[in-house]
Amino acid sequence: MSKQIPISFEFFPTKTDVGAEKLKVVHQELQLLNPEFFSVTYGAGGSTRERTLSTINDFNGKGAPVAPHLSCIGDDKARIAELLDLYKSQGIDRIVALRGDLPSGQVGLGELPYAADLVRFIREYSGDHFKIEVAAYPEMHPQAESFDQDIQHFVEKVQAGANAALTQFFFNPDAYFYFVERIQKAGIDIPVAPGIMPISNASNLIRFADGTGAEIPRWIRKQLATYGDDTASIKAFGHEVVVKFCERLLAGGAPSLHFYTMNTTDPTRQLVKDLGLA
Ligand code: FAD
Repeated sequence: MSKQIPISFEFFPTKTDVGAEKLKVVHQELQLLNPEFFSVTYGAGGSTRERTLSTINDFNGKGAPVAPHLSCIGDDKARIAELLDLYKSQGIDRIVALRGDLPSGQVGLGELPYAADLVRFIREYSGDHFKIEVAAYPEMHPQAESFDQDIQHFVEKVQAGANAALTQFFFNPDAYFYFVERIQKAGIDIPVAPGIMPISNASNLIRFADGTGAEIPRWIRKQLATYGDDTASIKAFGHEVVVKFCERLLAGGAPSLHFYTMNTTDPTRQLVKDLGLA
C-alpha cells in the first residue's frame, strides 16, 4: 500500500521543440505517480523566460498543479509583476520564489536583490493568491557568511510571507534534521521538503554538486569512482543509497519529498515506487 507522503517533481525548460515533446511524455509518466505539483525552473535575469512560460503552458491544467519558479536577481519589478498577472490569469496559485544566480560578469542586482525581497513583493502585489515556496540549504548556501546568518536570512523569507520550502539536494540526513531544528528554534514551522537528487550518472552528479555547493559524501564519491563506466552498477548503487536516504528522512519526520527529475522518468519513478509513495 502506498504511503500518504506528498511528492513533487522538478523540471527545467528544454531548449528545443523536440526536447519539449519528450518532456511532455515524461510529464505524463510521472503524472501517474500522483504528485502534489510539478515545478519548472526559471533562468536568472529572465534568461529562460519564454521557455519556462511555454513549459508551464504545456503542463498547466493537465493533472497535478504546476508551480513556476521565479527568480528576482537582475530582473525588475515590472517584469516580475507581468509574470504574476499572467500566472494568476492562468489559474496558477503556487510559485517557487528564488534569488537566482547571475551569469559571471553580469552586474546589477536589480530592484529585488534577495529572495526575501521577491517574497515581500509577491505578497504586496498579489496578496495571498500564491502559495510561495522558497529555497532552503541544509548544508548552508555557498555564499552565506555563516550558518547562523543563512538561518536568519531563511527566517526573513518566511517572515516576508513564504509558506513552505524546498531544499537544495544533499545526501546527509543529519544536515536536514539539524537545519529543521534550527529554524524551529527560531520560531519557524513551515514544511521543508528535502530536495532529492537521484543518482544515475556519476559525472553529472559531481558537476551539479560542484555547481551548487552540495556535498557528495566521500564514501559515495569513492564507490561511484570504482564503477568507472559501468552504468548499471552506478544506477543500482545510486538507487539503493537514495532509497535508504529517503527512508531516513521520512522516518525522521520529513513532511514530503521534492525530486530533481533531471527531465527523465527513471530513476525518479523507481525511487518513488520502491519507497511505496506512488
Ligand atoms: P536567498 O535566499 O536570497 O539567499 C542567497 C544568499 O544571500 C544566501 O547566502 C543568503 O544567506 C544570503 N542573503 C539573503 N539575504 C541577505 C541579506 N539581506 N543580506 C546579505 N545576505 C543575504 N536558480 C534559478 O536561477 N532558477 C531556478 O529556477 C532555481 N530553482 C531552485 C530551486 C531550488 C529548490 C533551490 C534549492 C535552488 C534553486 N535555484 C534556482 C538556485 C538558487 O537561485 C541559488 O541557490 C541562489 O544562489 C540563491 O537563491 P535563494 O533563493 O536561496 O536566495
